[in-house]
Amino acid sequence: SRRAARTLLGHLEAVAESAKGHESHFATLDSVAGDGDHGQGMSFGSKAAHEAARAAVAEGAGARTTLVRAGAAWADAAGGTSGALWGALLTAAGGALSDESDETTKEDVIRAAEAGGQAVLRLGGAAVGDKTMVDALVPFLRTLRSEASGGADEAWRAAATHAHEAAESTADLVARRGRSRVLGERSLGTPDPGAISFAVLMSAVAERLGR
Ligand code: ADP
Ligand code: MG
Ligand code: MG
Repeated sequence: SRRAARTLLGHLEAVAESAKGHESHFATLDSVAGDGDHGQGMSFGSKAAHEAARAAVAEGAGARTTLVRAGAAWADAAGGTSGALWGALLTAAGGALSDESDETTKEDVIRAAEAGGQAVLRLGGAAVGDKTMVDALVPFLRTLRSEASGGADEAWRAAATHAHEAAESTADLVARRGRSRVLGERSLGTPDPGAISFAVLMSAVAERLGR
């Protein structure tokens, strides 16, 4: 329904604002062992996703359609590996929701997040320890599920915190996937840009929950 879609629109606004605010941070991380474009990719992608969601909500679209369109717009606008992965994540998460239901339940949130995560794992083929966004995403999902008895908002906050810790820990890893794998040990000591941006964006949503 419109109400559930409007809530999602608010989350996507928070994501876009946060990505813009962290653009140079993400770029700096990606310049160590990547090609330096992660700030711009996340900023462009999330802005396009937010705009597409706003247009969908204005047309009266439900949660599913709003998120599916946001994902398509993100992948189109961002380019790069992370653009394709975030596009797939949002599109799959949207596919797990309904256009009709008025409330997004705790189970809906978990189901959508897990569908989004599965899409990233399937498309990217990375495993935990490869030094990618998967290293933050998998602990995020695990905590989201394990803390769910306290309610969806509390679980999301705990999951975002766990994602941050896990993202920081990728500094100890050497990349095995993505562009930075060819640079091998150069990435040692710096966390993976995509893992950090994942944690930052999930925290931006967390800060907005319950408001
Ligand atoms: P590109 O690498 O194409 O320049 P970005 O710089 O925007 O794209 O994104 C880089 C991030 O993408 C990496 O830090 C990593 O987290 C993520 N990434 C790269 N390859 C994969 C993969 N196969 N699976 C999951 N995440 C990946
Ligand atoms: Mg890059
Ligand atoms: Mg690139």
